[in-house]
Amino acid sequence: MSSEASYSVLKVLRSIIQEVNRAENIDQALAIIVARVKLELKADACSVYLYNKELEKLILSATDGLYPDAVGQVDLAFGEGIVGLVAQRAEPINVATAADHPSYSYFPSTGEERFNGFLGVPIIHHRNVLGVLVLQQVSASRYSEDVETLLITIAAQLTGAIATAEVSGGFAAGHDRRDGERKPLMGIAGAPGAAVGKAVIFATEGYSFNIVAERHITQDEVATEKRRYTRALKLVKADLDVMEANISNNILADERAIFDAYKMILDGESFRSGVHSQISKRLAAESALRNVVIGYVDSFKSMDDPYLRARAEDILDLGLRLLRKLLPEQSGKQTFPKNTILVAEMVTAAMLAEVPIRRLRGVVSMQGSGTSHTAILAKALNIPAVLGVDELPLSRVNGIEMVVDGNNGQVLLRPTAQIKREYRLQQQQIEQQSETYETVRDLPSETSDGFAIRLLLNTGLLADINTSRDSTAVGVGLYRTEYPFMVRDRFPGEEEQYRVYRKVLRGFHPLPVTMRTLDIGGDKSLPYFPIEEDNPFLGWRGIRFTLDHPEIFLGQLRAMLRANDGLGNLQILMPMICNLTEIDSTLKLLAQARREVQEELGIVEKPRIGVMVEVPSLIYQLPQVISRVDFLSVGSNDLTQYLLAVDRNNARVSELYDSLHPAVLLALKMVADCGQKAGKEVAICGEMAGDPTAAYLLLGLGFRTLSMNLSSLMRVKWMVRNSSISRCKEVASAALKVDNAAAVRELVAAAQAAES
Ligand code: PEP
Ligand code: MG
Repeated sequence: MSSEASYSVLKVLRSIIQEVNRAENIDQALAIIVARVKLELKADACSVYLYNKELEKLILSATDGLYPDAVGQVDLAFGEGIVGLVAQRAEPINVATAADHPSYSYFPSTGEERFNGFLGVPIIHHRNVLGVLVLQQVSASRYSEDVETLLITIAAQLTGAIATAEVSGGFAAGHDRRDGERKPLMGIAGAPGAAVGKAVIFATEGYSFNIVAERHITQDEVATEKRRYTRALKLVKADLDVMEANISNNILADERAIFDAYKMILDGESFRSGVHSQISKRLAAESALRNVVIGYVDSFKSMDDPYLRARAEDILDLGLRLLRKLLPEQSGKQTFPKNTILVAEMVTAAMLAEVPIRRLRGVVSMQGSGTSHTAILAKALNIPAVLGVDELPLSRVNGIEMVVDGNNGQVLLRPTAQIKREYRLQQQQIEQQSETYETVRDLPSETSDGFAIRLLLNTGLLADINTSRDSTAVGVGLYRTEYPFMVRDRFPGEEEQYRVYRKVLRGFHPLPVTMRTLDIGGDKSLPYFPIEEDNPFLGWRGIRFTLDHPEIFLGQLRAMLRANDGLGNLQILMPMICNLTEIDSTLKLLAQARREVQEELGIVEKPRIGVMVEVPSLIYQLPQVISRVDFLSVGSNDLTQYLLAVDRNNARVSELYDSLHPAVLLALKMVADCGQKAGKEVAICGEMAGDPTAAYLLLGLGFRTLSMNLSSLMRVKWMVRNSSISRCKEVASAALKVDNAAAVRELVAAAQAAES
């Protein structure tokens, strides 16, 4: 195919997909597919057969060329007819005369006897055959290879759209599938928990700059219009204060920095003077505002820098708020039912704060990652959130019921009574279980055969200090310093960091607090310092960044050391170390920071220093690593990702991501053995430490210090008290010998059932 031809193919493909994505429901989507494909590929008929799980049949779901009445009436089992054979084999069949094919099965209701040439390709989504796309022609000839490959490409591209339409719009042509079988929409688990509620699309209630006409004023009115704008500005700032206050009981100052950013945009000289100069040119306030906002939004949207591009949303949001104040006659407050699930293309921190917290049950955002501001706030507010749900049909979900499952990162639209019951039951079970777990709160964290297990806390939010102080944890095993960096609009200075770290160290004193040095990069980019790379997880991340920027690194180390003055409970942890030189360089910078702080404050205590084991190379250099520092802490989230070569945030390969893979367990055993041999502490602070199944194995592998989120502490402590190290060891050594993670899980489940 010439490059020109392939370019036009791409164009056609893109336009079909766009049209399909705009379809209101699956029937419409399928109708568009068959009509457009028939036209573009010059076929005499194009049809789609979709698989109905309930009936276990492929059903003719749309056609352009066969008799329309046959839609919904023709069904085939896998393997039945040529269409069934395409589905069964999961590969295309291209024949000159369909009737000559041994599998041919004739359906008079379709009128297909007129056709000879037949090309069928499977529609496959995540390994599952969703259906078959068929082209037919009167001429008794095979379709060309070009057409065949094009149809395969079209089918592959359409699977996402078909899967989405299926989720949101019911099933085609009278073959309604039971609601309960609707597929969940996958996203990223932003904040844990699950909730059932009503979707409320966050809207600026019909306010759009499209409705603002170019209204001209007289010279005499200029001053009045400027005053009108200033008044609107004040009202919006007051609203922002109220929104901030709305969540201030639940969030501490650190997480509220986003509101300062909003206020800064509003107060910004260029924004204000832009509007004023437009008014001076005799435009009414709302028209002036429109011109300025649209100008800003357009130029921000076209910027290469993703942070600045994202700011376009903030400016539009603020612009619409101002507009609302300028056009009071149209104002009406958005109402939120008491079980609100806040939904938007990009739920912002400000939107979250606008919903009365008591009414907010969950958050669903089409964009955003687990480390976005929204996720941080949702976690702090204890509200389940699923982000990055890019297949959410936003225009069709307002007001519908949905389940937000923040534990598994999925959303279910229009859940059936059965599904709701299951979720409620799950919720009840969780509550009941947590009551059971609470019974061990004041009991020692030791196994049934008397081994003491240190349970530590993972945190990063200042808000956690209050709730954590009375927890059962004996310290902080991982304080992620990224969060204070992420909620600002520039690198925080040494003083600012000092204040945050001091609060944390003091809050937990005398318990130890392990502060990890800045670990940005990967999926955690700073809004004001975007790092764009093809492979961010293999790129400029963690210690690689901080060692390259000693001015930032030294500031952080000094802030930590100063914060530790007179307290002495600081431990410092280095992330993403992949070689010994990085450890040595960090120790050198730390020594420099200490000398400098000592000059200012007199003698400062030497904190204990640790290295995170999260890059596989360290597994092979453990003795040299541990001899340089006081302790190790395994970052099993990254260690798993790097050992298995599976992106920890990629939903497509999430089934492959499993920390119980026997190879991961073997690596963990090597770390635990090394600690034992060196007589130094080896902790683990990845998510697996908070999972009772994985934690059981960790005890068996030799770990005695586990660091986890607050919500996991009690259940892990309960597991510890109901387990014996001798049995854990037996299970762990058996787990190292089995083939896969599923077999590991079976071993643990059987052992835990026997122990409790
Ligand atoms: C880890 O990788 O296991 C870890 C604790 O660090 P993070 O999840 O912050 O990368
Ligand atoms: Mg990590």
